[in-house]
Amino acid sequence: MSVVLSGTAYRPSSGPYRSPNPFGIRPGQAVRWTAATPIAEIATAFNKHGVTVYVIGDNYHLRGGQDHTPWSKVLGRIFACDVMYGDAAKMERWLVGILRGSEDTSWIDYVNINNKQYNGSGTYQGYSGDHHLHISVEKGAVNGHVSRFVQLIHAFFGQKTTTTAPKPVPTVTKREGRFMFFQVQGKPEVYISNFVTYRHVPDPATLKSIQGRLKKLGASDADLVPEVVPSINEAVWGKKVD
Ligand SMILES: [Zn+2]
Repeated sequence: MSVVLSGTAYRPSSGPYRSPNPFGIRPGQAVRWTAATPIAEIATAFNKHGVTVYVIGDNYHLRGGQDHTPWSKVLGRIFACDVMYGDAAKMERWLVGILRGSEDTSWIDYVNINNKQYNGSGTYQGYSGDHHLHISVEKGAVNGHVSRFVQLIHAFFGQKTTTTAPKPVPTVTKREGRFMFFQVQGKPEVYISNFVTYRHVPDPATLKSIQGRLKKLGASDADLVPEVVPSINEAVWGKKVD
C-alpha cells in the first residue's frame, strides 16, 4: 500500500464551484503539487502501519480551495491528510491526549476526529462531519519536520519511542503584583501563577481578558524573571494541572 504525496491536480472544468479560491485558480487549470512536509511525514508514518491516507482531494474538494487542494495556503502545497484508521474513538483519545499535553503541537491548525473538531491545543471547536482523522497544518509549518509526532504515531501502533518530549518554554511572561501570567509561544493557553501554585485558565472570557492585559502590558521575552521562570517551567511541565 502506498500513499500519493505529489502529482498534478486540475481544477474541475465544470462547477458547482466552492469558495475559497485564494489563488484564483481557473476551471481546467493544472497545478503541480507536493504535500507540505508535516503531511508527508504523517502520511508516510501511518502508511507504514498499513493505514490508507489520502492527501489530494477528489473533484468535489478541488472545486473549492480548502486544505486538500494545492491552492489553499501556499500554491503547490497540500496542508491536510485523511487518515482512514478504523477505530475513531481510540484515535480521538490518543490524539486529544497529545494535543492537551506538553508536546509542541503549535504546527497543527486543527484536527477532525470522531465527528468532532479540536484546535492544535486540543480545545473542542464543535461538530465536524469527519469520522476519520483529518489533520490540517499551519501555513508556517509548510517545510517543518514533525519527527516527534512521527515517533508518537509509531508508539500508537506499539513501537517504542526513542527520545523524550522536549519541554516547551513559556515565552511570554508578565508579573502583576502577587501573580504572574505566562503563555507558551504559538499556544493560546495562558497560565496564572502566584509563585507557589499555578493553574490553567480555561474559561474563554477570562482567557481573552488576560490575553488583552498581557498585550497592553507589552509582555515580551524581556519580561521573563530569570530566577522565577525555571521553577514555574518545572512546576508546569513537570506535573501539569489544568
Ligand atoms: Zn480531510
